[in-house]
Amino acid sequence: MAMSEGRRHRRKERVEKEDHLVEPEAILRERRKARELRQTQWWKRKLARGICHYCGRRFRPHELTMDHVVPLVRGGRSTKGNCVPSCKECNTKKRSLLPVEWEDYLLSLKDRRP
Ligand SMILES: [Zn+2]
Repeated sequence: MAMSEGRRHRRKERVEKEDHLVEPEAILRERRKARELRQTQWWKRKLARGICHYCGRRFRPHELTMDHVVPLVRGGRSTKGNCVPSCKECNTKKRSLLPVEWEDYLLSLKDRRP
């Protein structure tokens, strides 16, 4: 068909940084969903259990924050499977490290555990 011959300008839509491939509206939508998820019994039970998903240590409920395993900017969603309780230390580390470095950190935690 003649229609498919039209030249595409897809390259223009691509942004250098992978982070920016997710549309801002999508991120806002997922943030809103995360806020709703925080109100659920499912989440409150997780907080009450008080265990950081990453380092496995115990904390008081208010010391834990909701973390997206796959960050929203990388296409992660606010689903139960992707939202985990995280202590401040792990949360800060995760934000400051590159994904590869973060994986190393997680591995080092596993080694330390019995
Ligand atoms: Zn932790």
